[in-house]
Amino acid sequence: MKNCIMQPLRGTKDILPSDIVLWQHLYNKATEILSLSNYHEIRTPILESTSLFNRSIGNGTDIINKEMYTFIDQGNRSITLRPEGTASVVRSFISNKLYQKGKTNRLWYLGPMFRYERPQYGRQRQFHQLGIECIGSISPIADAEVIRLATYLLNELQCLEYTIEINSIGSLKERNLYKESLVKYLLNYQHDLDHDSKERLYTNPLRILDSKHKTTQEILHQAPCLNNYLGIESRMHFNSVCKFLNKLNIKYNINDRLVRGLDYYNYTAFEIKTHILGSQDTICGGGRYDCLIKQLGGPDTPAVGWAIGIERLLLTLKHNLEIHTKHPQIYLVTQGAEAQIQIWDIIKMLENHKISFELDLYNNNLQKQIKRAYKSSALLCVILAEDEISKQEITLKWLKTNKQKTILKINLEQELKIIFNTH
Ligand code: ATP
Ligand code: MG
Repeated sequence: MKNCIMQPLRGTKDILPSDIVLWQHLYNKATEILSLSNYHEIRTPILESTSLFNRSIGNGTDIINKEMYTFIDQGNRSITLRPEGTASVVRSFISNKLYQKGKTNRLWYLGPMFRYERPQYGRQRQFHQLGIECIGSISPIADAEVIRLATYLLNELQCLEYTIEINSIGSLKERNLYKESLVKYLLNYQHDLDHDSKERLYTNPLRILDSKHKTTQEILHQAPCLNNYLGIESRMHFNSVCKFLNKLNIKYNINDRLVRGLDYYNYTAFEIKTHILGSQDTICGGGRYDCLIKQLGGPDTPAVGWAIGIERLLLTLKHNLEIHTKHPQIYLVTQGAEAQIQIWDIIKMLENHKISFELDLYNNNLQKQIKRAYKSSALLCVILAEDEISKQEITLKWLKTNKQKTILKINLEQELKIIFNTH
C-alpha cells in the first residue's frame, strides 16, 4: 500500500502558531471586556450525555436530526461531543447549584464544538464558539446588556462591518399558535415547497421561514406573520430591548422572519451577520431562553445569551488585524563544551529580565549558527565561543546593522538592561 501523508479529519483544522496569536488576542480581549461587566469564564466538559442535547436543543432541529457526534462508550452510555455551549453551561449551572448564591450568574466560555455538517468556507465539523450567558434576569435590560457586549467585543476586535438582526419569537404558547396557522397556510402550497421545507412542515415548521429557496420565499410572502401572534408581554419586552439599543446607538434591523435553529429560545432572538463571508454570513447567534433551565430540571430561572463562531469571526478579522508571531529578542550561540555549561547562567538571567531568546541547538560551526541567528529575526545575537570563554568575555552582534562588540561577561547583565530597557 502507498504510504500516504496523515491528514486531519475532514472538517477539522490545526490551528498553527501563526494563527494562535490571533486566538490569544481574541481570548485576551474577551477576558478583558467581559470581566469588566462581571462575566466569569467557565469550562465545561466537551463530552456530555446525549440526553442533555436531546432535551434542550429540541427534536426536529438540524443539530439533533443529523449533526451530532454521538457514540456509545465502554459503559454502554450514549455520549455526544457538544454541538453548542448553552446546554452544557445550563447543565453545569444546575449540577453545581450555582443558583444557590441567589444572584445573577454571568458566565462566558470559549471552546470547541462539534457538528457533522458539510464542510465549506466558514463551516467546519470542529469549530469554536465564544459565548456568554446571563442567567437570572427576566428584564429586557439583560438582553440589552448581552447584545451590547457582543457589539463592544466585535468593535474592539476591529470587526466593524456587521449588521444585527433582531426579532421577538414570543412565548412558547404564542409560537405554537402561530405554528398552527403557518402550517395551515403552507399546506395549501405543499407541493411547491422545496424538499427540506416539505419535511419541516411536519418536524419544525418555523424553520421554513429560514429557507433560502426562491419559490418557498415567494410562498412565504403572504404567510401569516409571527408578529401578529405576540401577546402584550412579548411586545413590551421587545419594545424595551429596542429602546435600550436605540439609546446605546446600536443599529439593528427588525427581521420578523428570524427564528433560531434551536428550540429553547423565547422572546428575543438575534443574529449578527457580516457581508464579508458569503453564504456563511452569521458570526453570532443568540437570544433569551427562559424555560430551558427548568426544562432541564433546575429551578425556574430566566436567561439570555449568545455565541460567536470564532473561525468565522477570524476570517473577517484577518483583513484588519495584523498580529504576528513574536520573534525572540536574542539568539544564543555557543561553541564548545564549556560554553554550553556557562550559557545556562545567561539563560536564567534573561528569564529574570523577561527577555525572550532562542538557544541554538545544533552543534555546528559558528558561521552556521550565526546564519540561523539572522533567520530568527532576533534583534541581538549573543555569542559565547571558545575565544570569549578563555578571556571571560562575550560578544554581542546586532543583527540588523551587523554592529558588534565584545564585552566582559560580568558586564553582560548591565549591558542588556540598557539595550532592552529592563530593570
Ligand atoms: P448556521 O446557520 O450558519 O448553520 P447556526 O444557526 O447553526 O449557524 P448557532 O448554533 O447559532 O449557528 O451557532 C452560533 C454561531 O456559531 C454561528 O453564528 C456561527 O458563527 C458559528 N457556527 C455554527 N456552526 C458552525 C460550523 N459548522 N462551523 C463554523 N462555525 C459555526
Ligand atoms: Mg447550523
